[in-house]
Amino acid sequence: MAAKKRDYYEVLGLGRNASEEEIKRAYRKLAVKFHPDKNPDDPHAEEKFKELGEAYDVLMDPDKRAAYDRFGHAAFAQGGAGFGGGFHDPFDIFREVFGQAGFGGGIFETFFGGGNAHTQDRQRGSDLRYDMRIDLEEAAFGAEKEIEIEKLDTCNKCHGSGAEPGSRTVSCPACGGRGQVISSRGFFHISQTCPRCRGAGEIIEKPCRECRGEGRVEKLSRVKLKIPAGIKEGSRLRSSHNGEAGIRGGPPGDLYVVIHIKEHKIFQRDGDNLYCEVPIPFSLAALGGELDVPTLEGKAHLKVPPGTQSGQIFKLRSKGIANINGRDRGDLLTRLIVEVPSRLNVEQRRKLEEFAALCDEENTPLRKSFFERAKEFFK
Ligand SMILES: [Zn+2]
Ligand SMILES: [Zn+2]
Repeated sequence: MAAKKRDYYEVLGLGRNASEEEIKRAYRKLAVKFHPDKNPDDPHAEEKFKELGEAYDVLMDPDKRAAYDRFGHAAFAQGGAGFGGGFHDPFDIFREVFGQAGFGGGIFETFFGGGNAHTQDRQRGSDLRYDMRIDLEEAAFGAEKEIEIEKLDTCNKCHGSGAEPGSRTVSCPACGGRGQVISSRGFFHISQTCPRCRGAGEIIEKPCRECRGEGRVEKLSRVKLKIPAGIKEGSRLRSSHNGEAGIRGGPPGDLYVVIHIKEHKIFQRDGDNLYCEVPIPFSLAALGGELDVPTLEGKAHLKVPPGTQSGQIFKLRSKGIANINGRDRGDLLTRLIVEVPSRLNVEQRRKLEEFAALCDEENTPLRKSFFERAKEFFK
């Protein structure tokens, strides 16, 4: 087996009398080239990388190198010259080499760090929030609204690509489309995100003049919104893809519309129910009769029974607000408030005095029962 192995000097591309410094330099250069992370499509990359590590491991160790120079690969075969313990993990060697200048273990990640370089430059647009005030009627029955918002939207001129019409997207000349550049800093070769294309691997030949290559511009946009019946105060509706446009054709953000319901002139909302106070004359309360009361859909008829007391509530079934989850519609609770007449004229006053003289405690049973209970307080 050992005989089939490539010569270690050949692996590193060096002569037999290469210095330690030359071995290091050659190894660094080749390790970067053959690192498996850099060659995902080459099935032999890992093998080549290991071979390289092995060659380096042997040639950098004076004892091993001497044994190799004398016996070749046989020096490390089982039962050979005492080096049968195998080799380091080549990745360890790599760390050792680059650890020498005090970078510690982190250098490895810096070298081959990556992620998908080709998506870095197309960024998703931000989500936006819009506060919308609607009428109670719109909350009750649902509505279709159109809103106007000033936001970063797709550039009409370049359709979001960021390229001037007619110009193309080309492979970045600075990094050859890799998105990463390797720069030399003395001893080190540092791989970093390409500053020209910012990791995208491609650049726009001529940036769009309208949006300066960003693919989006500030403009007034119209967004249609469907408000479901029964929506509640503070609800947040999501309008997908209607947030800010993405950068250079990246996906758009979402628009969140927060609903605020305006106070109504006569109705108050309590969940799905509506509540309304209706003043009525005391004669109607006493005599009973018919009364028109308001609902969200126009007037409704209410029968007021004789002897209705102030504050009594009459329920108009299903005249409230639709349930957002499709359950039964709420009710309208009409509370009748008996209004005592004020500013009486002479004739009204005389008639009322006559009426009062005709009344006894049977006409006011509440009062009667109260004074029976409160008797001891009047002693
Ligand atoms: Zn543009
Ligand atoms: Zn580049």
